[in-house]
Amino acid sequence: MKTPVITARLLNKSYGSTVALGGVSLAINRGEAIAIMGTSGSGKTTLLHCLAGLIVPDHGDVAFHDSVGGADPALINRMSDAQRSALRRDRFGFVFQQGLLLPELTAVENTALPLMVAGLPRRAAEERAAQWLQALGLAGMETRRIGQLSGGQAQRVAIARAQVTAPDIVFADEPTGALDSRTSEEVLTILRDTTLNRNGALVIVTHDEAVAQRCHRVLRLRDGVLEGALAA
Ligand code: ADP
Ligand code: MG
Repeated sequence: MKTPVITARLLNKSYGSTVALGGVSLAINRGEAIAIMGTSGSGKTTLLHCLAGLIVPDHGDVAFHDSVGGADPALINRMSDAQRSALRRDRFGFVFQQGLLLPELTAVENTALPLMVAGLPRRAAEERAAQWLQALGLAGMETRRIGQLSGGQAQRVAIARAQVTAPDIVFADEPTGALDSRTSEEVLTILRDTTLNRNGALVIVTHDEAVAQRCHRVLRLRDGVLEGALAA
């Protein structure tokens, strides 16, 4: 049975006279990997940021469906800034193209950060972070700073950091855009498997057809509209 984690209805977002999203509706289910494709400027990042509560659409709703309890889904676009940032911190994970890791911190410190922000003591946070680094093939590199890692290794740290809180959904915006194709394939496989193995959902913006074909569904945006528009 398909259980939605996020549903979006008729999302519209404009910047001045530029229509970035022109009425996008979709559902993302638990245990599902979705690729979002489209040429540069087609609205991919805007869509991802609306789904993740980083920006609020001008019109339309984004609902988060909690797995526990039968409560009505929470409308992210109606939340206060503080509620949205708490939702992002507690339920969502993020991987960006450049990782956005803190260069002055080590791999294990970067990975542990979201747990410490959520209130876990450093020792417990770093233990769990180290387990994730090990699971991603980075055993022995825990105390390296980000600059002492290869691009692929740094992106695996970014994945560990996104997974360490066991988020309901992981949002990835061109996470392999800065990597060569073989490393990119490896990193994507790890990102997909570590998310799906715990029945999380993955939304990944990518230009890479090979990456997209390894997801369950591919949504294509053109000028802020989903092609086919049957996705809802
Ligand atoms: P993509 O990620 O597919 O390249 P974006 O979602 O970043 O596309 O952008 C969609 C459209 O909205 C583009 O025309 C872009 O120039 C415009 N846009 C995005 N963000 C902003 C912003 N903060 N201010 C003004 N225009 C923006
Ligand atoms: Mg983009």
